[in-house]
Amino acid sequence: MDGGPRGRAVLAQTGPGALWSDVIAAARPYGLAPVSGTPSVGVTGYTLGGGTGWLSRKYGFAADNLLRAEVVTADGDVVTADAERHPDLFWALRGGSGNFGVVTALEFRLHPADMSTPACRCTPSTARPTFSFATGTGPCGNPTS
Ligand SMILES: Cc1cc2nc3c(=O)[nH]c(=O)nc-3n(C[C@H](O)[C@H](O)[C@H](O)COP(=O)(O)OP(=O)(O)OC[C@H]3O[C@@H](n4cnc5c(N)ncnc54)[C@H](O)[C@@H]3O)c2cc1C
Repeated sequence: MDGGPRGRAVLAQTGPGALWSDVIAAARPYGLAPVSGTPSVGVTGYTLGGGTGWLSRKYGFAADNLLRAEVVTADGDVVTADAERHPDLFWALRGGSGNFGVVTALEFRLHPADMSTPACRCTPSTARPTFSFATGTGPCGNPTS
């Protein structure tokens, strides 16, 4: 995690098996957040499939925020795919799901995040005006996505 000055877009790197809850928790002290969905969902599968979340209307899909991927290709090579290196593979990974190799690392952009937002799937009797989306649950305990 590259925290950087508060308020500046910075990067996070994850490995296979990482859950969004891991990234959200690591980014939160910096006032940052990834474009992520349900915290219990895996970062890699989500991102490779596109991935929409709370921040998507502002920052696009999770795949739009992917900057680099380390991939083991079908012939056993370990390659880095980004805008300059293996750009076709990089394009295919961003939405092509698990069809193009085994992803062993992802690097993606984080965004400044207001840690409260007025949206939650709660019943009116339990709803409060805000919740901390970084916890992944609303005030009533329901998942936030
Ligand atoms: C409770 C829940 C809530 C969800 N909420 C959202 C949401 O808010 N927004 C949204 O967009 N989606 C959401 N999803 C869908 C979610 O994005 C997909 O299920 C996604 O595939 C989950 O990724 P995974 O790594 O956990 O799954 P997996 O089933 O492990 O992987 C899914 C695909 O990615 C491939 N893959 C996984 N890891 C790798 C790797 N390291 N290298 C190469 N390929 C790999 C797999 O082969 C498979 O094709 C949700 C799913 C659940 C179960």
